[in-house]
Amino acid sequence: MKLKCPNLSHDLSGPVAFIPHPIVRKGYYSRKSDSRRLQRFLCKTCGIRFSRSTFSNRYYQKVRRINEPLRRLFVSGVSQNRAARILRVSPNTIARRFLFLAEEAKRSQKNFIAAIPKRTISSLQFDDLETSIHTKCKPVSVCLAVESKTRKILGFQVNQMPAKGRLALVARKKYGPRRDERSRGWNLLLKGMGLLATEEVHITSDENPHYPKWVKRHLPSARHTRIPGGRGAITGQGELRDKRFDPMFALNHTCAMLRANVNRLFRKTWCTSKKVERLWDHIALYVDYHNRELTLSGPIFGGSCIRTRQFEEHPIQSHRTNSGSVRASH
Ligand SMILES: [Zn+2]
Repeated sequence: MKLKCPNLSHDLSGPVAFIPHPIVRKGYYSRKSDSRRLQRFLCKTCGIRFSRSTFSNRYYQKVRRINEPLRRLFVSGVSQNRAARILRVSPNTIARRFLFLAEEAKRSQKNFIAAIPKRTISSLQFDDLETSIHTKCKPVSVCLAVESKTRKILGFQVNQMPAKGRLALVARKKYGPRRDERSRGWNLLLKGMGLLATEEVHITSDENPHYPKWVKRHLPSARHTRIPGGRGAITGQGELRDKRFDPMFALNHTCAMLRANVNRLFRKTWCTSKKVERLWDHIALYVDYHNRELTLSGPIFGGSCIRTRQFEEHPIQSHRTNSGSVRASH
């Protein structure tokens, strides 16, 4: 990487433009937060000193060494307060780092999805997982789509919905009417799938009456199988129900993993989300870990598997996957 001076107010047209080596190495410094010794540089034009970390998004972070363990704790069912105790830092640090790590996870997933060759997913499953914000009277729905073989999470959306059943009346009385915004989520999710999936993609979902409309809109020639009496919220541990053969295993297993590893999605928990955005962040953290570390990569997902014939016919796509594997894995 060619280094540039962080001081953007240089006038590069003047005599300074003729300095032969405008940036030189100038000593070292040791960083306490992760015990590293770093090269310092000097800009001969303006005299400013800097290092490579000046350009890092971790610039100014005090305890850098907690980033990696914290990322793992967040996707292993540990609460923010307990994470603060385990890592011996302040809960405020954890709360701030949560936002930082979530942003990183979202960026990483954006790259991961972008590295999947377009129109190659031939089988996917999708469904909704219900949880709530602050109280059960304010439910939200997380719709997510997974690839059937590898269980990679291809996308998710979080949207509010009105309370159902016995709680509906109480919720309306206490918090007023609550708009159902789930269709926006289904629309966006399937729009994204339209770019990734092949035209004759096989889609499996439950019998939710809203699904066919959105599938038709974004994947008109898809084969849509609707599984009757899939999992229901009535039985509680819906995702892990004892069935002989589960046609939606990939999705149900993924939902069960989310429930088991994201503390705010536990069935019985006192860790609740106060904002939809934070729930979104936490799921993004999990999805990134799930796609990069918990599930195996295949030929489509930047793995080292031998190419199948389908890919050999499209050399451009094959090149994309190879370069994508580097980006997606780190
Ligand atoms: Zn300079």
